[in-house]
Amino acid sequence: MRPLIAGNWKMHGLNADLHEIDSIAALAARTQPHVDILICPPASLLAAAARIAADRIAVGGQDCSPEASGAHTGDISAEMLKDAGAGAVIVGHSERRQHHGETDALVFSKALAARRAGLLAVICVGETQEQHASGAALSICGDQIVASVPLGMRAFGLAIGYEPLWAIGSGQMPTSQEIVQMHAHIRRRLVEHLGAEGKNVRILYGGSVKPSNARAILALPEVGGALVGGASLKSAEFAAILACAPQEGATIAAE
Ligand code: PEP
Repeated sequence: MRPLIAGNWKMHGLNADLHEIDSIAALAARTQPHVDILICPPASLLAAAARIAADRIAVGGQDCSPEASGAHTGDISAEMLKDAGAGAVIVGHSERRQHHGETDALVFSKALAARRAGLLAVICVGETQEQHASGAALSICGDQIVASVPLGMRAFGLAIGYEPLWAIGSGQMPTSQEIVQMHAHIRRRLVEHLGAEGKNVRILYGGSVKPSNARAILALPEVGGALVGGASLKSAEFAAILACAPQEGATIAAE
């Protein structure tokens, strides 16, 4: 299983920042053939980013509508992302769940849309600080997996982003033991839900990943990559994270 390192630019980036994508793609082609690299810029930059990436790395959307087209002002469909050059889309990011009231059922329908359009769906799950403190994290995230991941999803079309909400952009992190426990739990729930296909789905850790902690995180069992926010905006910092990715086959413990 090749590690996947995905950068989520969120609502950051103008045309003047596209050179960061060129730098990452150039570096990836030279030094990181064993890593799948994905950058998700804002939708306004997607087509230009895809042209610059020129298949050296993948680019993706940060969200999509469940619908293919129609009267949905301001929304963008998975088909439109694909048409703009995307190979993937993040769905169910906690900022969408929190700030836009997205439910598991909506995330599920967006994941179906991603599959319909032939995009890799990066489905995010994660617990709040309160849920973490009360010991409910495993059950919350396990339930989100079952309710957000459509049956029949294939491993090549799906990645899970485990992002504890309290770790996003905060500099706080779960312990290594907590990450291992959560990723093993997500793996079990995926296998229960998807059968053997669930064994090969990459489970990314996200939340305050930086060059200083990436090597330790990416070496943990069942951590199949990382979803990186702030540290993906500058190519030098993102490149330092990419350099921490283990060689193919070194990360994923057999279930
Ligand atoms: C994210 O929002 O997906 C994220 C992981 O952000 P950060 O790396 O900045 O914590």
